[in-house]
Amino acid sequence: MDNRGLYIIVTCNMIRLGGMVARRVACANMWPIELACRQVSSLGPLAAAFNTKQNVQFKFQWNQSKTGLFGLPELKDSQGFHELKERCITNAEALVQEVISSNRKRNVAVIFDDLSDELCRVADLAEFIRLAHPDQEFALAAQDACIAVSGLVEQLNTHIGIYTALKQAVEQGDINTESDVDKLVAKLFLQDFQQCGIHLGDKEREDVVVLNDRILRLGQQFSAGCHQPRVVRGDVLPPQIRDMFYVEKNGNIVVSGQHIDSPSDMAREAAYKIYYWRDQQQEEVLSALLEDRFKLAKLCGYQTFGHRAVANSLGQSPENIGNFLSSLASQLPDRVAKDHMAMSNMKRRTNPMCSPLSMWDVPYFSGQARGTWFSLDLEKVCEYFSLGVAMEGLNELFQSLYGVELVVEDTREGELWAQDVFKLSVKDSSKLLGHIYCDFFKRPGKPHQDCHFTIRGGREKSDGTYQDPMVVLMLNLPPPGWRSPTLLSPSTLDNLFHEMGHAMHSMLGRTKYQHVTGTRCSTDFAEVPSTLMEYFASDPRVLARVNRHYKTGEKLPEQTIQKLCATKKIFAGTELQAQLFYSAADQHYHGRLPLPGDITSCLESVQTKFHTLPYIPGTAYQLRFSHLVGYGARYYSYLMARSVASAIWQHSFQADPFSGDAGGKYRRECLEHGGGKASHLLVGDFLGEQMEPGQLAAALIQELDIKNREVEEALACQ
Ligand SMILES: [Zn+2]
Repeated sequence: MDNRGLYIIVTCNMIRLGGMVARRVACANMWPIELACRQVSSLGPLAAAFNTKQNVQFKFQWNQSKTGLFGLPELKDSQGFHELKERCITNAEALVQEVISSNRKRNVAVIFDDLSDELCRVADLAEFIRLAHPDQEFALAAQDACIAVSGLVEQLNTHIGIYTALKQAVEQGDINTESDVDKLVAKLFLQDFQQCGIHLGDKEREDVVVLNDRILRLGQQFSAGCHQPRVVRGDVLPPQIRDMFYVEKNGNIVVSGQHIDSPSDMAREAAYKIYYWRDQQQEEVLSALLEDRFKLAKLCGYQTFGHRAVANSLGQSPENIGNFLSSLASQLPDRVAKDHMAMSNMKRRTNPMCSPLSMWDVPYFSGQARGTWFSLDLEKVCEYFSLGVAMEGLNELFQSLYGVELVVEDTREGELWAQDVFKLSVKDSSKLLGHIYCDFFKRPGKPHQDCHFTIRGGREKSDGTYQDPMVVLMLNLPPPGWRSPTLLSPSTLDNLFHEMGHAMHSMLGRTKYQHVTGTRCSTDFAEVPSTLMEYFASDPRVLARVNRHYKTGEKLPEQTIQKLCATKKIFAGTELQAQLFYSAADQHYHGRLPLPGDITSCLESVQTKFHTLPYIPGTAYQLRFSHLVGYGARYYSYLMARSVASAIWQHSFQADPFSGDAGGKYRRECLEHGGGKASHLLVGDFLGEQMEPGQLAAALIQELDIKNREVEEALACQ
């Protein structure tokens, strides 16, 4: 939905409610009693709650009355969505009248934020319930509300009256005094309108509507094509590798991915070439999508779609982003060459007559190196990282850094959409900051994605009180069993820390407007607080405090923690290069059109410039790159967020990852503002210097050198 002004705001987070329960953790309902009790007494309430298998029979709190999803009494049943939707429409109408009234008393930005809040609170909630509620009746009612509210948003996006009032206020100043934040937020609302072409003539506005519809459809078509398996005749493959693939009854072979785990060089090569082979239809869809995006951007007054997509971001402009990527590209080859040399040696050891290292070898040998270099038994290591221990560790970390505490809260019958969801309150001393609903466990029909949904954004209300934020974190972990809790692999631990970084961004935001609260900022800056949390998850001092064996309560030896942290850093340059290549391709495709050649020859030239392994003739990686749709010119966000997070880590937390002084400063100067301060200024003020593209690249390169040194040292110590 990146093509509708107000809606961007409305849906950049989604959320929702659900179904039943309040849980009381009772030892007798968990695993073997002695085990459970030991956990409870030594680990505290968070660990006990998250490590315990829930018993439905004991989940209700009998002394409290029933409520609805997220504690909203209207949502005791699915009909409530109708009520919420009707009220939203009525309230929105009153706010529209207020904006266009000749004797309004409040600034336009304030009224717009009220309007956006009315819409978001229903749309985000409904969108989440539509995706997450296991009961079809709720999901359908929520879908209905989503459709109604997005219809209303489309009407508002073409409402000349409210646009004119807003434009006048931005250009001539509003009736009441405005702060920088007031001005910025009014400007952001105005830009959202203009991205929808409201300022254009009738004919062009119609063109914008047509283009948006077509872009939506082409995007869906392209995404679906990205994951299509490819079927080839059996005799295309050499006989000795045919049985490594799925063979249909008629002898045809189905290739549905890269076979990155196959020890056979030949199988990996065949899989890569077949899976990424050019596909004319998919090329046509992508070309049409890029052309329509370019036309849309031009119509709305931008040079390219990239310029439209990164307006108000940390990256600021495609030119800046291009410089950042080029600067990285110039410094990576020597560093990556060392990784490739190590991989080539591994390849030669298995087959002295092997071909040179190629694109299909990199994922395989990276996995091999991680699995074998430090002779770690990762399954055993996971036993020290139960979900409960990780949550307790996060709580300890947040207490040290920000002085805030996570507390498992009882829920009322009807409040949740699934019985194994936990509700956490986040408290600063005794003051409540907001709520995080933790929807962590797999269940049939649940979307398979880790994500953060804003259900209700924080903001100052007209009566002077603060509207506390409410978010949902969704993960897909196996639930705890009767005999063991949920155990986290190193990458799922990273994901948990990452998502909690988003949640704390929402909880600690104290913005005047919900339009810019927490993660409601530019895509590249929104990933900074979450990426920063991954640095904590990879630091030996943090992991030394977070780990504890779920049965014995023992800690991991220090040497094992060092090895674990070093494992995550193997071939970091190669990983960076892959991200650089994808980001550059995304920028290139969303730049000036027509492209200098066809869409695949452009990929070849991007690969030559940004990658050190040769392009494989006949392949077309971009046709499988579905992020071109969702990110559209913003895929660089991950790299840029990583470089800013790296700079913040090095500047503030590397010396002491538990420092309350550093945490307090970061909370006040970065997290509290959300998107209420331009993100490049916010980062520049925090670090004490503006981060130019070259410096952003330098932060990543410096970090890479540190990582490589740490891996070498850890290998030398073995
Ligand atoms: Zn994220």
